[in-house]
Amino acid sequence: MARAIIIGAGLGGLATALRLRHAGLDVLVLEKQARAGGRSNVIEENGFRVDTGPTILVMKSTFEDTYRAIGQDLNQRLDFVRLDPNYRVYYHDGTYIDLFSSMPELAAEVERVEPGAAARLFRFLGAGAKKYALAMTFVTRNYDRITDLANPVAARRLLVTGSYQRLYRHVAAYFKSDKLRKAFSFHSMFLGLSPYDALAMYSLITYADLALGMWYPRGGIYSVVEDMLALADEMGAEVRTNAPVREILIRNGRASGVVLESGDTLEADLIISNADLPYTYKSLVPAGARRAYTDSRLDAMDYACSGYLLYLGLDKEYTQMRHQALYFSEDYRANLDAIFKSRTIPAEPSFHLNNPTITDPTLAPPGHTLLYVLAPMPNLQGGVDWREAAPRMREQLLDQLERLIDPDLRQHIVWEREFTPLDFQTRLNAVHGTAFGSLAHGLFQSAYFRPHNVARDIPGLYFVGQGTYPGIGMPMVLISAQLVVERILHTWR
Ligand SMILES: Cc1cc2nc3c(=O)[nH]c(=O)nc-3n(C[C@H](O)[C@H](O)[C@H](O)COP(=O)(O)OP(=O)(O)OC[C@H]3O[C@@H](n4cnc5c(N)ncnc54)[C@H](O)[C@@H]3O)c2cc1C
Repeated sequence: MARAIIIGAGLGGLATALRLRHAGLDVLVLEKQARAGGRSNVIEENGFRVDTGPTILVMKSTFEDTYRAIGQDLNQRLDFVRLDPNYRVYYHDGTYIDLFSSMPELAAEVERVEPGAAARLFRFLGAGAKKYALAMTFVTRNYDRITDLANPVAARRLLVTGSYQRLYRHVAAYFKSDKLRKAFSFHSMFLGLSPYDALAMYSLITYADLALGMWYPRGGIYSVVEDMLALADEMGAEVRTNAPVREILIRNGRASGVVLESGDTLEADLIISNADLPYTYKSLVPAGARRAYTDSRLDAMDYACSGYLLYLGLDKEYTQMRHQALYFSEDYRANLDAIFKSRTIPAEPSFHLNNPTITDPTLAPPGHTLLYVLAPMPNLQGGVDWREAAPRMREQLLDQLERLIDPDLRQHIVWEREFTPLDFQTRLNAVHGTAFGSLAHGLFQSAYFRPHNVARDIPGLYFVGQGTYPGIGMPMVLISAQLVVERILHTWR
């Protein structure tokens, strides 16, 4: 039986472990941290249970496919609630709109902000549906040669759908008001791109959120990770935590095992790295063994943004809130340029605010609330000193929460934690402390142009997760597991 070692127990590593084990391979997952999950993790303290990374799931079918591929039924094992509205969007002037999945309600909200915009909303979503269908032809495949991109039908659709334009301009063509332009363009930030730079193609995410729905698994996103761990255990795939890998062993030009920080050496027939891809090449593969990804090539790549996170436990209930919310700073452009161009701390941060206790009170003690605040921030390439910046960011965000939610909010904090770009770097080995994933999704870091899931110059070494194709985000990472396993089984059978 072939033996596979997977470095990292993020969602991509775990999904790969389940699929390979189901195919009959002997599987060992080695995770650096004390808890599996990677960027999709959890903190459980003082009666609070907070998802530290993603909190909601989109493209649920990718999770269902992962389970189906190993003979399981996701919906039998976990209980999902569909959110509606998906988000409440707060603006600097104190107004807000609710982004409903239900189309009549969404249309009414849009009309309230911009009379006459409902018809354009439907045209915008229709265009998003076409982009979604088009993108899927590029997303769900392995690439071997550049001609794999040369699909004449897709190329024509790329032109016809205007997918090559910039996202913000595309959205601005449908909506006149600044408020709606913000509400329908922000999504690319989660791929590490400013809407002013991202391709219009990524309006497919807005479409996916609104049309395919956003789902909350009871117990939080981490309950999916826990269930995958339980399945790994049942199926006989070992997941070893507190087991950081120091080096990938290359013998006779072939990946043949790993050396742990403890000094132990473990042999394997194939190695799949789920750790950050640029980190894997730079820190785990000896420089002499890699021709394609030299340090200078890795340094020249375009890295995604990071984030500052504040998790709060409060001894009060906020029933007027929605499960998910967004706050947009007044000067959207200045905010995005600070994050993506000058890589400085934005003067007025925009942020994502969650109150999961609205849907699931079991996440906090009775009568308490859990708040999750995520402010997109520059990655560490800008040189921000987070030891100094974090306390100021905390105060700024608390000021905003007091303005939006409760003027006495600070007095109700009974528990809190934070996570800064430095934590992404040190805890997750994320190069430049990126939050959602390492490599931004520009045209030349997508599909064929993204690092491939197999190291061509090092037989036996594969990659899974956000660093390879299709890319960043849980659904993409699950598809990446499907793709790398298809490739491995094609080679090993
Ligand atoms: C705050 C936040 C919000 C997000 N929101 C969303 C969202 O709403 N929707 C969405 O789809 N996605 C979201 N994402 C992105 C999503 O979480 C990630 O893209 C995805 O989870 C990445 O999974 P992965 O399998 O690539 O690996 P990762 O999660 O990056 O895991 C890699 C693992 O490798 C381990 N590792 C690293 N080095 C070593 C080593 N030397 N030895 C052993 N182990 C090692 C790490 O500890 C880690 O556990 C969010 C992420 C964050 C941080």
